[in-house]
Amino acid sequence: LFDAVPQAPEDPLFGLMAAYRKDQFEKKVDLGIGAYRDNNAKPWVLPVVKKADEILRNDPNLNHEYLPIAGLPEFTSAAQKLILGSESPAIKEGRATSLQTISGTGAVHLGGLFLSKFLLKPTSAIYVSNPTWANHNQIFTNVGLSIKSYPYFSAKTKMLDIDGLLSTLKAAPEKSIILLHACAHNPTGVDPTQDQWKQIAEVCRARSLFPFFDCAYQGFASGSLTTDNWAIRYFVEQGFELIIAQSFAKNFGLYGERAGAFHFVAAPGTKAQDVTKRVASQLAVLQRSEISNPPAYGARIASIVLSDSTLFAEWEKDLRTMSGRIIEMRKSLKTELDALGTPGTWDHITSQIGMFSFTGLSEAQVLAIREKWHVYMTKNGRISMAGLNTSNVKYFAEALDDVVRH
Ligand code: PMP
Repeated sequence: LFDAVPQAPEDPLFGLMAAYRKDQFEKKVDLGIGAYRDNNAKPWVLPVVKKADEILRNDPNLNHEYLPIAGLPEFTSAAQKLILGSESPAIKEGRATSLQTISGTGAVHLGGLFLSKFLLKPTSAIYVSNPTWANHNQIFTNVGLSIKSYPYFSAKTKMLDIDGLLSTLKAAPEKSIILLHACAHNPTGVDPTQDQWKQIAEVCRARSLFPFFDCAYQGFASGSLTTDNWAIRYFVEQGFELIIAQSFAKNFGLYGERAGAFHFVAAPGTKAQDVTKRVASQLAVLQRSEISNPPAYGARIASIVLSDSTLFAEWEKDLRTMSGRIIEMRKSLKTELDALGTPGTWDHITSQIGMFSFTGLSEAQVLAIREKWHVYMTKNGRISMAGLNTSNVKYFAEALDDVVRH
């Protein structure tokens, strides 16, 4: 029956990780993986997560029953306040609904599935940034959405191509869906400024475009939770109907626990609460058929921290530890490249934010740095800043300098 099933290509990122693990070279450097590493290149369990885990394990009432279809209510309500702001008009007016999902990926998927079922115009496309997180394309293709792209990154300036972005959105058919990275754009590390977000919102309003925010790095990018959700809060304040995929993988270091949430926000108005209720009912049907109900552990950990002001403050400190170390590594890398006089401009290393940096290396240079220097990065030249530390940043700068010169 399945004789004709073609071989699918290996996932590029997971393939890269496997190649790195096989490499026996002592000074090898892993800049592929999108997970935080401490200064010893080791995974970091956040101290506040350790505390929450202790609390959880000592809870005499803990059991392993199913969660409700929409997930742990304390978690979804705390996640909603975190992403929209606790004073959000959408929450106060009862026009936001949230479901716990299988991390950010599950939330993106649930959003895609919902749109593919209930879009007013079945011909509407989803516009994603060029480039974007590779999995966006797979997820939206799998649910049958047609994908288009808008320009995002200027290879020349290594900054946001705001003119290209705006003119493509202006030309997009009404009711198109626009996927926006809320902060710390993956893979470029380039975010719109607040003024540019306002311009994007203006076009979305003028063209009746539907914003779909993907927020995988709140608090992890700038170190401030409210700086990193600014764009989402702005769009909600402007009265947009929108959806949000929220991940707790990076900001809690809960990668494998798959804690995330999907939020729908209705536009203000007399029908808003009713629309929200009906949308929630349909999302529950989709969730039931896909995963029945979400996994408990990660959501329990996050909700313990989010609901306790002391633990919340400790979490913010842990976030600053992670974002601060990454910012330090950006500065160190830039200093090393300046000292070597590496050809080209490298200001983008320090101006880009979040976990990733788009180096501007060509595919050939990426292969060369891997062959000769055992430095692993994705073939688009993206590096994970979290893979750098005080022991390998100089080595990496030398490697980069070498491949740029040859
Ligand atoms: N969206 C973006 C842009 C991401 O970078 C990621 C993480 N790589 C995700 C969503 C989802 O990740 P997860 O499923 O691990 O939460």
